[in-house]
Amino acid sequence: MPFVPMKQILDEAIKGNYGVGAFNVNNMEQIQGIMRAAREVNSPVIIQASRGALKYTNLYYIKHLALAAVEDNPELPIALHLDHGNSLETCKLAISLGFTSVMIDGSLKEDGKTPTTFEENIKVTKAVVEYAHSMGVTVEGELGTLGGIEDGVGSGQVKLTDPDEAAEFIKLTGVDALALAVGTSHGAYKFRVAPKLAMHIISQVKAKAPDTPLVMHGSSSVPKELIDIINQYGGKLQHTMGVPIESIQEAIKLGIKKINVDTDGRLAITGAIRKFFAENPSEIDPRTYFGAARQAVYEVVKQKMIDFGSAGHASDYKPMSLEEAKKFYM
Ligand SMILES: [Zn+2]
Repeated sequence: MPFVPMKQILDEAIKGNYGVGAFNVNNMEQIQGIMRAAREVNSPVIIQASRGALKYTNLYYIKHLALAAVEDNPELPIALHLDHGNSLETCKLAISLGFTSVMIDGSLKEDGKTPTTFEENIKVTKAVVEYAHSMGVTVEGELGTLGGIEDGVGSGQVKLTDPDEAAEFIKLTGVDALALAVGTSHGAYKFRVAPKLAMHIISQVKAKAPDTPLVMHGSSSVPKELIDIINQYGGKLQHTMGVPIESIQEAIKLGIKKINVDTDGRLAITGAIRKFFAENPSEIDPRTYFGAARQAVYEVVKQKMIDFGSAGHASDYKPMSLEEAKKFYM
């Protein structure tokens, strides 16, 4: 199975009423951990790379690592998605590398920090949609701004999505999926107490645009067990909370179909490596501690695929090529 457009994975998730995790990757161990989890529970997969990941891997490495995942797992639908594209140029670059989906985060200016107006957001998103759809590539937009900062992205201000604006935005831009701001936050330091998400926003957007899969960013759960492992082995993380899995499951029922997860993978890797070195201080073979990190990613991702409901759905449908997806947009 080649890469599939993300639109197919998310449209199928609407039909089956489940959510699909989109996991950020920067290296081979993360990709292998995610793919092993997907194989074992038979889940569709969204692998996503941020601009930071493209830079870290010097573009070609991420492309070929993702291609390796496809070659190694011919039975699974896999989408390769650009997380938080900041301009038409960045989206074009990702598409030229073979990404089957791009996010244009027009809620912020190109610096990834300054909030834009509704009109500015529409303008840049429309330009990306026009280009990407001509290649059969999926586009995710964003309306409203999240709290927190991750990989240099974030204004530090929170502006929840207005459901009427969201419906208009979808109609005017033609985006395939829309990220909403419903009270989640990027990064590891999210909340002191469990957040109350604005579920009514999800329901209202879903009522106005029932065919558009909705996306939740900043949705790591930041489990206490992972924080505890890091601190037990010399880490110094402060008390923090993420989005409880029950809230995510409720959001999925209401219309969220893509759930972005980055922080939980980072915590799992960091904890595994710290623990490994504490217990094996004389080990120098990188395969041992990177192997422990890969195992930790696998465990976290597998549980999420089960919790989000995507487990068991990889063989529900026949994969769509970008050529076929192109026709869809004509
Ligand atoms: Zn995000």
